[in-house]
Amino acid sequence: MSKKKDEKQKNKKMWIYLISLVVLLVLLVGLAIFYINNNKDKEDENSLAYTELIKELSEGKIEKIEMTVGSTTVKVKQKDVEEDKEKKSIVPNTESFIGLVQEKVAEGNEIELVQKPRSVFAQIPSFIISFLPTLIMLALFVMIFKMQGLGEKGKVYDDTERKTKVKFDDVAGLDEEKEELFEIVEFLKKPEKYTRMGAKIPKGVLLCGKPGTGKTLIAKAIAGEAEVPFISMSGSEFIEMFAGLGASRVRKLFEKARKLSPCIVFIDEIDAIGSRRSSNSGAETENNQTLNQLLVEMDGFSSEETIIVLAATNRPEMLDQALLRPGRFDRQITIPTPDLKGRLEILKIHAEDKRIAEDVNLESIAEDTAGFTGAELANILNEAAIIATKNKHEDIENEDIEEAVKKVTVGLEKRTRVYSEKDKKLTAYHEAGHAVVSRYLPTQTNVKEVSIIPRGVAGGYTMYKSDEDKYYISKTEMQEKLIALLGGRAAEKLVLDDISTGASNDIEVATKIARDMVTKYGMSDTLGPIDFQGKEPYEMQLFGEDIGDKIGQEVKTLIDTAYNDAQVLLRQHRDKLDSIAEELLQKEKINEADFKKFFDV
Ligand code: ADP
Ligand code: MG
Ligand code: ZN
Repeated sequence: MSKKKDEKQKNKKMWIYLISLVVLLVLLVGLAIFYINNNKDKEDENSLAYTELIKELSEGKIEKIEMTVGSTTVKVKQKDVEEDKEKKSIVPNTESFIGLVQEKVAEGNEIELVQKPRSVFAQIPSFIISFLPTLIMLALFVMIFKMQGLGEKGKVYDDTERKTKVKFDDVAGLDEEKEELFEIVEFLKKPEKYTRMGAKIPKGVLLCGKPGTGKTLIAKAIAGEAEVPFISMSGSEFIEMFAGLGASRVRKLFEKARKLSPCIVFIDEIDAIGSRRSSNSGAETENNQTLNQLLVEMDGFSSEETIIVLAATNRPEMLDQALLRPGRFDRQITIPTPDLKGRLEILKIHAEDKRIAEDVNLESIAEDTAGFTGAELANILNEAAIIATKNKHEDIENEDIEEAVKKVTVGLEKRTRVYSEKDKKLTAYHEAGHAVVSRYLPTQTNVKEVSIIPRGVAGGYTMYKSDEDKYYISKTEMQEKLIALLGGRAAEKLVLDDISTGASNDIEVATKIARDMVTKYGMSDTLGPIDFQGKEPYEMQLFGEDIGDKIGQEVKTLIDTAYNDAQVLLRQHRDKLDSIAEELLQKEKINEADFKKFFDV
């Protein structure tokens, strides 16, 4: 709530600045016009040279002279000209000029000498007037900077000064990680207890993990548990910034942190500023300035200052080594994607504030969602609530959640898309191909659903039962995965003797798997267990001039073999392929139980 108030205050300030800006601009323009006019006057034909003035004065041709105190410009009215055709003249020395005029008057000339008091404008010392444009310009710059500062603060110090209410209980699973981080909570709560003992508490902790695994959440929970402020900033904000601004923001961030200590400073996506310093391009140099400032700040505060810097990244290997040195981010905690138990707990937490029907089985959903992150699971329940509303259900039902899972994984069902008979047949055989091939591959999980109803960008899909959480995948398993992936294309080729673009995603995935097998997991017999990934060309040369060709050859062999195996399997079980494709053409969708029936004979 106070955030809203702040927001209002900020908006008000913004308006004040904006109005001042406009006023200043108008002033500046006005001044410019004034100067231009003034100068024009001087060069004007209406001006009378001083020597000419003296001459006419002596000749008695002048009727009236108007002077302003402190000004050297005088208005002159000649006798033979009309009232409004006064001329201006510049007088080098006003006093001696007045003397001269008075002399002429004493001689009997009729000259009216008017001395006007200084105008308000003329009373401003002339140097100020000449500095006015500069002053206004300066004011303008200050305004612009202040305005930028306002916008900036809104972004960087998002949650500043507000204590978060997130607690460890809001973070599901991650028991060991929480335990490790609890130490930091303790330290933030009772720093004396530790420093008295001479203990050095880590200044920086790096949280590594995929997006959506709960890094931000757990960082907030630490602040929430310790009841200290949470100051955050995201590395990605620095990417398109003016030179020097990144560093100054980091400085401000830590200035703030020192004021609010004990506190947590959270730097999200630290890889955006802290990635390895390799080249010397412009952006790179700027990043370095930001990174250097961060290093300076981290080295600068003592452990008594009780500031703990948490940073998040999903690419720890990309970070500049300088960041990982002792006294900086010397602790790394990996936040994994949740396992079965973790997923169930996350689902339970996010189900709490939703109307979930009695018979919904969160366990089975947890089983079906291996590899999903906390954010994805939270998203599924949210989607399920939307789908349930659309379906006019009292509560969120199992089918709503299952639909949500599909929506999140394959995209939304598009029953309205028009489909030609030919496309339909192609899709039916393609999907039946995946399904039948998988059925005969021992390592592949059971088919959960086959469908030719388009979803997202896919024309159809074959869903598998989710993999149990595994830490390792064997070579056989990967080979069979390739066969299953290419089963779609193999069926098209076999039955229609033509192939389509429908298999592009399968091919993409298969290629990546095959490449990883060869270059990352060392599964190629000829190349051996060597990591070839992410190597610079000169490093690759160490393995021989033609290493690239060899890798390519190995990848191709893996794919070719798998494609061939898929075709062999489909030829063997052509009857199943035909009957399943036929069923799909009629019913569009086959569930797990019905799919099994085809193989029960
Ligand atoms: P990250 O920072 O790792 O990208 P976030 O912390 O922003 O991930 O997580 C996004 C959202 O996902 C959280 O706000 C929360 O709703 C949900 N979430 C992620 N992990 C968990 C978890 N372990 N327990 C509960 N909710 C989680
Ligand atoms: Mg995050
Ligand atoms: Zn496919």
